[in-house]
Amino acid sequence: MILPKLTRLSAGLVVMVLAAGCGLVRSPSMDRRGADTFEDDVVTARTLTEEFWSRQFQQLGRTYRPIADFIPYSADSGPSCGDQPAVPNNAFYCPLGHFIAFDQDWMEGLWNEMGDGSVYVIIPHEFGHSVQAQLGTDFSLNIESELQADCYAGGTLSALVGSGALTMDAGDENELFASLAAVGDPTDDWLNPAAHGTAEQRQASFAKGYQSGVGAC
Ligand SMILES: [Zn+2]
Repeated sequence: MILPKLTRLSAGLVVMVLAAGCGLVRSPSMDRRGADTFEDDVVTARTLTEEFWSRQFQQLGRTYRPIADFIPYSADSGPSCGDQPAVPNNAFYCPLGHFIAFDQDWMEGLWNEMGDGSVYVIIPHEFGHSVQAQLGTDFSLNIESELQADCYAGGTLSALVGSGALTMDAGDENELFASLAAVGDPTDDWLNPAAHGTAEQRQASFAKGYQSGVGAC
């Protein structure tokens, strides 16, 4: 999951963070009309992230298993994962069924308010969980798996920028960091089974992947 805690943040903080977003991450190939649509960005983020991981797995002599489904939902209409119902305002990877689902209205709202950097953080983060499942990565604490998914997202994005698949515009880095800040936990509660990490922890983990690649995660 990317954002189970947003509702716990004060409205003032969210507005401040959202207002900080500015520049855009764009795929040049999708930039035909000068501005990508939300749908373009979602498709691009998914496609490029899976291409990236396919190559990574190949280099390790393994085969990447593409997700079985990629499911947009609205409000309470999302697919359940085992006995866990989908909740509004979230995105998640479900290991049972190997799929990713996301509240499309919520994500489009973030895209509108914060810029498309939000989509390029959320989707690679969820794919990070699908990679953990394939690699059999097992953490004792939820926060460790969440921070590694942030690190994977940073490593994925820097590789895509490095290969020219994505271009970073001025302000993009701030946008990515603001997106992470918006989804940080309000307090450092390492043992909480729902913990994802504070804004600072999530940004640091993302930055580690961005600077050193997914191998450092
Ligand atoms: Zn997560």
